[in-house]
Amino acid sequence: MSHMFVPGPVDVADEVLQAQARQMVPHRSPEFEAIFRRVAEKAQQVFFTRQRVLITASSGTGLQEAAMRNLVQERVLSCVNGAFGSRWYDVALTNGKQADKLEFDWDRPVSPDAVAEKVKLGDYEAVALVHNETSTGLMNPVKEVAAAVHAVDPDVLILVDAVSSFSGAKIAVDDWGLDMVLTSSQKCLALPPGLALAAVSDRALKKAETVENRGWYFDLLRLEKHRLKDSTPATPAVSLIYALDKQFERIFAEGIEARFARHSAMAKRVHEWAESQGMSIYAPQGYRSQTVTTIKNDLGWGIGDLNAFLMERGMRLANGYGPLKNKTFRIAHMGETQMADIETLLGAMEEFKKG
Ligand SMILES: *Cc1c(COP(=O)(O)O)cnc(C)c1O
Repeated sequence: MSHMFVPGPVDVADEVLQAQARQMVPHRSPEFEAIFRRVAEKAQQVFFTRQRVLITASSGTGLQEAAMRNLVQERVLSCVNGAFGSRWYDVALTNGKQADKLEFDWDRPVSPDAVAEKVKLGDYEAVALVHNETSTGLMNPVKEVAAAVHAVDPDVLILVDAVSSFSGAKIAVDDWGLDMVLTSSQKCLALPPGLALAAVSDRALKKAETVENRGWYFDLLRLEKHRLKDSTPATPAVSLIYALDKQFERIFAEGIEARFARHSAMAKRVHEWAESQGMSIYAPQGYRSQTVTTIKNDLGWGIGDLNAFLMERGMRLANGYGPLKNKTFRIAHMGETQMADIETLLGAMEEFKKG
């Protein structure tokens, strides 16, 4: 396996790749329905929800769009402290919603108090935020934001993008009172791209009943109607469902809490290593991602040179995102990545540093 320390698409385990090579079965057959039901139930466990998980043949952005089209008739508060929060805000606008942007510096978390303050003044149907900003390696305090919003207006829905943290960091959908939490297959879940999953609350579906122009493909009510028959309105990505089934088997064999602990240990190791080398972490203490670390390029490395050096050794990391390019670089530690892989990477970077 090559070692891509890039935040998606990430390395996929061989047995997961091979699961996709299985012959097709008709999606409206008892055989497929049994697999579809099994993956949806396993997904519920990883989302910590007794409500439902919908699965679509799309990337995560498709479900960002679904959230806006189904759960907002008019007004949404979009929290933005990175590139993916910004994209979700654009998704709201381009779907004709009145989105208000609540912006924070990219190295600051979304503030629960600031969100609550806006919600108190505005007439919002929903608040949208990104759990794990892959562009900055910052993990937003979703639980605290949800609690602050519920305290001022319990009817406001909480929409969460967990594309790069789902299955690597705990997100307790029911306990935290979240209404739609979406993810894609090619990040921490470590599958090939092409599948998206979302936990959707009962009250979110109730709200969707009142929203016009939900569209067809991403209509949550239509998806739910078919889910109740272990199916989908349109053809599902059958091969990816096979792969998801295999990946959940592997995730539960490791243990979900053990998986979270592995991610958190790798993050800690990378943070301590960077600081020991004289570099600093972009995200502030307490808000650092468990799945991807953004390191400030304090040593003035040529990131292209660093990557060329690493690629000769079968590894690759990611440059900083957008405006942070060359000023930072990112190490993903998610999915299949193990501590031993991290040690190999850090060893190679120390070699690079010696020049
Ligand atoms: C990658 C990413 C997205 C976009 O997901 P796609 O699956 O590429 O559509 C959205 N949000 C976050 C936080 C991401 O990391």
